[in-house]
Amino acid sequence: MKALINIDYTYDFVADDGALTCGKPGQDIEKNIFELTKRFHEDGDYVVFAIDMHERDDSYHPESKLYPPHNIRGTNGRKLYGSLEELYNKIKDDNNVYYLDKTRYSAFAGTDLLIKLRERGVDEVHLVGVCTDICILHTAVDAYNLGFKIVVHKDAVASFSESGHEFALAHFKNVIGAEVI
Ligand code: ZN
Repeated sequence: MKALINIDYTYDFVADDGALTCGKPGQDIEKNIFELTKRFHEDGDYVVFAIDMHERDDSYHPESKLYPPHNIRGTNGRKLYGSLEELYNKIKDDNNVYYLDKTRYSAFAGTDLLIKLRERGVDEVHLVGVCTDICILHTAVDAYNLGFKIVVHKDAVASFSESGHEFALAHFKNVIGAEVI
């Protein structure tokens, strides 16, 4: 059983005026993320949206020292970007679609993602979204340590750092044995 994990493809991470944006590389993958999400959903695979969420002025959160405020609870910055938001609104009530709030880079950290995947007998996770070398990477490493087969869709992940993007793609393939397609 397969699952597609959509990571952080939100306004703040993708739009030109997003708070922590990947900019054009992020916008360039919109169609690919949309098509993959549509296909997995239609095929009856498990479709997960794992979306960063922060509280305003959270001095305890480690990212507060690293990045400007982003994906704050209840703001438009947390909305999915572009056509993915439209698709999500169409499919969100279906029983193979799951939306979870995450507060760390990895979609597994402090969430019930692992329980949801195990319940459904998922053994293969497909990763799309942003940023390749941050939240995709940390999620992939956790998936590796938990024994999942990992597939990263290289034309459906992006980063604000071209060198970080390339590093992570090589790492997926060479270090954690992911299929990069
Ligand atoms: Zn964050």
